[in-house]
Formats: sequence, structure tokens, C-alpha cells
Amino acid sequence: MADGREVNAFGKLKLGDALLEVLEQEGYSQPTPIQSRLVPVLLASANAVASAQTGSGKTLAFLLPTLHLMNPDGKPVTHHYPRLFILSPTKELAQQIYEVSRPFVQALGFRAVLLQGGGKRAEETKRLEKGADVIIATPQRALEHIEARHLDIKSVKHFVVDEADMMFDMGFVSYLEKLFGVLGERSQKVIVSATITPRVVKLAKTYIKPLRRIELDPPGKIADTITQYLYPVVRSKKEGLLAYLISANHLKRVLVFVRKKELADGVADGLREWGYKVGVLHGERMHLERKKTLLAFREGRIQILVATDIAARGLDIAELEAVINYDIPHVKHDFIHRVGRTGRAGKEGAAMTLVSPDEIEQLADLQKVLGNKIKEIILPEYAPKEVKSRGWLIQAPQRRRRKASVAAAGKEKHSGPLNKKGKKRKTTKRDGFKLHDASKRSASKPRRSRGRK
Ligand code: ADP
Ligand code: MG
Repeated sequence: MADGREVNAFGKLKLGDALLEVLEQEGYSQPTPIQSRLVPVLLASANAVASAQTGSGKTLAFLLPTLHLMNPDGKPVTHHYPRLFILSPTKELAQQIYEVSRPFVQALGFRAVLLQGGGKRAEETKRLEKGADVIIATPQRALEHIEARHLDIKSVKHFVVDEADMMFDMGFVSYLEKLFGVLGERSQKVIVSATITPRVVKLAKTYIKPLRRIELDPPGKIADTITQYLYPVVRSKKEGLLAYLISANHLKRVLVFVRKKELADGVADGLREWGYKVGVLHGERMHLERKKTLLAFREGRIQILVATDIAARGLDIAELEAVINYDIPHVKHDFIHRVGRTGRAGKEGAAMTLVSPDEIEQLADLQKVLGNKIKEIILPEYAPKEVKSRGWLIQAPQRRRRKASVAAAGKEKHSGPLNKKGKKRKTTKRDGFKLHDASKRSASKPRRSRGRK
């Protein structure tokens, strides 16, 4: 692969030496496909709407070229003013982009500021007044600073909207329209997501001209590195199954998604009873608590994080072996983002989805996104009676042709992990996803701790 590496190496991307040095220091030796495609387009100052699957390196794909254009000769920066403006739908993602950008920003002599709901407004204002070149913000907080005239975005030369379709889901369409209007044609505009929807493209085409569409993966494609499992389960047995899956698979770091914040606290309490260290992340938790919890999870002080879909977007957590969907999300696209927290940057990951009879309609809907990429596993002890002999997946009309094979899979006592070609691959003790076998349950069932709740 030496040849391929040479052709694709970052050095070929015409970035300045300072950025190349940081890339090397940070251990990035070769651009990912979206970086190879998007960096040259953005270096040519084009506007772009770019989609590439979760975990494919979109952050550096927009950071590197925009930062380079801000200081192409690597000259000392003497005057600081807003030049790069990055919007993120959640605080956690804004914080992460800030951390990722930090060494690159510093190497070029720039200053970055993070503006996020719950953050200390006075401190943010001070940093803006001192002069900042890179603004990374959540929409509401950015608006507050713009309205208070702490932040003048007229000088912005590069505007990036990360996870753009979530901004739509959050109702920020008119806000984006306004920003595009204020920034006018003088600034470069970049829109990024793994799930660029037709609505996003339509808005972009209206306001951004000319516009390049970079579509590396079809919107919504789930990375091949993620192996997916579906578990039909009686609703009242979901908590038990969740604890069992974590225990049976020896999961050291797992992200559990739930639809509703009220449910997150309950599920977390249940898991604590089994003796696990559990954190909770949802919109009603205080900013500082959210920050501390995510950090504890990143650092491995918490083994399980139970979160709502606010944690589904963009978060990059090292060594996250598995995502468990306690339920199916409200928004179909969120499923792709939930499972996309694992299997990132070429690493393997598992996504397990628990589905109870009341979710069967959403499941049928979701199957259009999943295709045949999900393996149904029926554990007699947890599955509803009606699926014990035949799986749910085969009941959806579009699955009929696969009836025989899926039904056969459903009858298997347990199924080993599959590699990309569908062949059984060796199972190590670590990835151990063959331990779903209910017959071994008593041996591996987690023990409920005797301690108080
Ligand atoms: P996306 O935004 O597409 O979901 P991220 O930008 O968060 O993905 O990157 C996913 C992971 O890939 C991160 O851990 C990041 O450090 C890593 N990564 C990014 N670019 C490269 C690269 N060129 N080589 C190796 N790893 C990379
Ligand atoms: Mg991202």
C-alpha cells in the first residue's frame, strides 16, 4: 500500500507546513476519502454541501482547508477578528470541534472561542472582545452574542454548518437563512452531515451560489465497520436484556440511547442496581454536569452512558465498542447517527437495537434505511411469544424475499459475528459478540448488586 499512501498522503493536499506538522504530531498519516475529496474543493474557495458516513473524518475535512486559507503563508497573525465561524447543533459537539481544532488553530497563530449555551457568557464576551479568529458555537448562544453586538460576523470568510440537517430538525431554518443573507457572497459556505436531506440541499441551493455537491457516501449510509443486531423483546424485559447484553458481551464502554429524558434516568438507575458505573446525558441536565459526565465517560471512569439523541450527533468517543438502542429514535435519521458513534475511523463496532411489540411500525419504517444489514437475534427468555418461531424482520413486506434465510437465522441458538462478506470471523474474548446465546444466560447473567439504589 506504499504507493497508495504516497498518492493520498496529506502532503499532496497543498496545505501549509504548519498544518502538516500538527497532522504528523497528532498521528494522522493519511487523509480519509472525504478529506481527499473535500479539502481540494474548499482550498479552491468553493462552497460545498458534503455528505460522508459517520466517523469518516469530516471535521478535519472542513477545518484544514479553511484554516489554511486564513493564513496560507503561515505569517504571524497580528490582528484577530472573526474569520471562521462553525455552527454545531449541540454543546458537546461544539466542545469536541473546539478540542480537535485547538492544535491547528494555535499552530497558525489564531485564537478560537467556544460559544455554547450554559457556558459563562461574560467569559465568552471577554474572549470575543480580546479578538478571536475562529468562532465555534451553538446557534442560540451565537445569536445572543450577535444581538448583543459582542460578535460581528460581517468579517467572517468561512462559514461551516456541521450536522446541518439537525439544525433543520431543531427549527433553525430561518436562522440559517438570515446568516446566509448577512454573510452574502463574500464568504465561503460549507454544509456537512452524514445525513444531508433534500430539504437541506434545497435551502443550500437557494442561498449558496455556486455550490458544489460532494457526496462520498449516499446520505444515510451506515458504515460497514458497524455490525448490527436486532433483539425483539417484551417491553417489561428491556432493562433485563440491556444488562444481560452488557454483561454477556463483556462491554467495557457502551453508549445506551433512549428516546426520552425521563426514561434515561430510570434506565440508568436500573443499570446501577446491577453494579455498573453509569452516567446520564440529556437536555435537562445542567451544562456543567453534562460536561463532567461526558468527560468521565471519555476517560473510562463511567462504563455506561445512557443518553437521549442529543448525544447522537458527531460525538467521537475513543474505544466505544458498542451502541445499544434501548428503543427506536423519533427521527429516522437519528438511528444512523446513534449507531455511528461506534465503528468510527475504520474500527469495528457493534450496534444492538431492542425492539418491543409497540415499536413494530417504527421498525418497518427503519428497515428501509437498514436494508439487510441487521441481524435478528431471538433470545427465548426475552422475546415476545409471537416472534419466538419467526422473526419480526421477515414480516415487513420488503423483506419477504429473504424469508427463508432470515427465518433460519432466527432459529439459530446463537450467531457469531459476521465480517463484511457475511462469513463467520474469529471471535476474540474481547469482541465476544457470540455470547448472546440464551442457553448460557444463567452463567453470564449480571448480578444485581445488593447495595442500595
Ligand atoms: P465525522 O465527523 O465524519 O463523523 P470525525 O471528524 O469526528 O468524523 O472523525 C472520526 C474519527 O476519525 C476521529 O477519531 C478522528 O480523530 C479520526 N480521523 C480523522 N481523520 C483521520 C485521518 N486522516 N486518519 C486517521 N484518523 C482520522
Ligand atoms: Mg462530525
